[in-house]
Amino acid sequence: MTSTLFSLLFSFVPFILIFIYLRMLRKRTLISFYIKSGIRCYSCKDEIITIMDEEYFNSLRKMEEEEKDTYRLCTSCERNRSIDILFSKKRGQIMLELKKFILSSKYDKIQRVIIIGCMALPILGLIVKYAFGFENHLSDVSNLINTIIWSFMIFQLRTTTIPKEK
Ligand SMILES: [Zn+2]
Repeated sequence: MTSTLFSLLFSFVPFILIFIYLRMLRKRTLISFYIKSGIRCYSCKDEIITIMDEEYFNSLRKMEEEEKDTYRLCTSCERNRSIDILFSKKRGQIMLELKKFILSSKYDKIQRVIIIGCMALPILGLIVKYAFGFENHLSDVSNLINTIIWSFMIFQLRTTTIPKEK
């Protein structure tokens, strides 16, 4: 009984996260292009380059072709990173790596696969239950993964957006 109640309550968590995500989406402006092209810092989102010229775009295209990172840190974030490395502070370094990972196209692909998987799992669970007669927890697993992926999506949205100007 308690486990049924728990899984029922738990199934609401992804919906709450989706609600928070949509609310944030409405209130924030997407700047992922500026971050991915190194115009804004990928950590604090401050502008690094104010004037974009053709030469810069050409160098950017070249970096993309060579599959090099096109994101950059501003001077103050770069300084903080050096200090973190010097004093082996792991938290800041992990945060930067996480931000870089979330901006990569690899992450986008992983996210897409996981979301499709999350939709398929409860259906698979029902098939296993009614066609083969096995009680299973596939929908709970789906809820758990959904909770994790939507938390990541909120983090990604925070990383790639700024508050809308009023
Ligand atoms: Zn910065």
